[in-house]
Amino acid sequence: MTDLHRLSIREMTEGLKTAQFSSRELTQHYLDRIAKIDGRVQSYVTVTAEQALAQADAADQLLKSGTAGILTGVPIAHKDIFCTQGIRTSAGSKMLDNFISPYDATVVAKTKAAGLVTLGKVNMDEFAMGSTSESSFYGATKNPWNLEHVPGGSSGGSAAVVAADLAPIATGTDTGGSIRQPASFCGLTGLKPTYGRVSRFGMIAFASSLDQGGPMARSAEDCAYLMNTIAGHDAKDSTSVNKEVDDYVANLNATAVKGLRIGIPKQYFNVQGLDADVKARVEESLKKLEDMGATLVEVDLNMTEAYVPTYYLIAPAEASSNLSRYDGVRYGYRCENPTDILDLYKRSRSEGFGAEVQRRILIGTYALSAGYYDAYYVKAQKVRRLIQQDFLKAFENVDVIAAPSAPTTAYKIGANLSPTEMYLGDIYTLAVNLAGLPAINAPVGFDANQLPVGLQLIGNYWSESQLLSIVHQYQQNTDWHTKRAAIAEENI
Ligand code: GLN
Repeated sequence: MTDLHRLSIREMTEGLKTAQFSSRELTQHYLDRIAKIDGRVQSYVTVTAEQALAQADAADQLLKSGTAGILTGVPIAHKDIFCTQGIRTSAGSKMLDNFISPYDATVVAKTKAAGLVTLGKVNMDEFAMGSTSESSFYGATKNPWNLEHVPGGSSGGSAAVVAADLAPIATGTDTGGSIRQPASFCGLTGLKPTYGRVSRFGMIAFASSLDQGGPMARSAEDCAYLMNTIAGHDAKDSTSVNKEVDDYVANLNATAVKGLRIGIPKQYFNVQGLDADVKARVEESLKKLEDMGATLVEVDLNMTEAYVPTYYLIAPAEASSNLSRYDGVRYGYRCENPTDILDLYKRSRSEGFGAEVQRRILIGTYALSAGYYDAYYVKAQKVRRLIQQDFLKAFENVDVIAAPSAPTTAYKIGANLSPTEMYLGDIYTLAVNLAGLPAINAPVGFDANQLPVGLQLIGNYWSESQLLSIVHQYQQNTDWHTKRAAIAEENI
């Protein structure tokens, strides 16, 4: 079969269960596509072909003996921020170019236990800091819709592999938009779960109070399958919440779009820099949801102007603390011929980290330093609470809140935005992480250059089922999520 990569996850599981194809055939098909196509997309940092085929053979045994789980034999790609035992985990950094983890992240362990086949590790902005994937030590990943554009970031590799059909599903992480924005730029569905829903154990830390892993796929249904595998309490992550996990697949039709109250923040649609095509596509998608029975209700999110400054203080502060462990002694890169311990620290860190990571460490260290702590860090924490309260107030009147995922479509590679221009592009995603809420991106059309546009739906705490269900029903009534980039249409 030449078109196994066109199957949805449900169709893949059915094909495997009824022996229409084996996991080895499916895995080999993806490995062949990677070999033929990824030279142009550059999404994989590491392809684990040999291990993948061994996992596929083991999956085929389980399938034959009738003891397979739901996703047994389905391939997956992991963002290179999730530790994988025995396989390099780089976080897109020279600092960890030689790092081989002695253990698996819980998310990876769960996908392995479920019988998923790991195709490899995919590219990302260095330590997940960025919005284009260009800050990776391994170079820029290309957007499958237009190879001259970025796939977004920081989970740009995860988005690109799915959009080019080089993996059917992928894991991503989202600290300030890194699942939703690349999903938006690549025409995919991506879910950022409630803080505490997915274990952070073994997920290389950027800003620990904001980081959350989640699924990236073509549809809400595909995301639901992966959420069923990776969500849940983990005693190894103290911020993981011990709360029953929904059956996200079974609940795909459980939320009625009819009667659903969708909040439209009036501050969001007048943001300077909101592209006219993005605005139009998002409004059309909201009209469609209205036609399906939802009601649009204007809401006030007064703190909108505070999102970017608050996030860009708290995230670097936490990053400067988290990244202090990379000192050239215990992990990763060590400079050549250090003259003394200070020289070792200094040169290992200035040679091992790229410019954006160094910028964040400097900002974060400054904000946390004794004389400035109250003026910056403590103040940002207070504003963070106000942002959260703003959302809780809005949720008294509405079920979900709608917004674009990003003000623009994918940037050109090398556009060389200034840091502040780049940070402003995160306006629609940051508050969700500051408040710890779940949110989803769904593809809703294209701009004049045939680049995808995404709608973001933000839910109240623990509403992942509801968000997946709304998007699933939207996708039953539209076909944006079925559109494929030309490179994904190439058969091999
Ligand atoms: N673009 C944001 C940043 O650079 C968000 C990144 C993320 O979610 N990991 O920090």
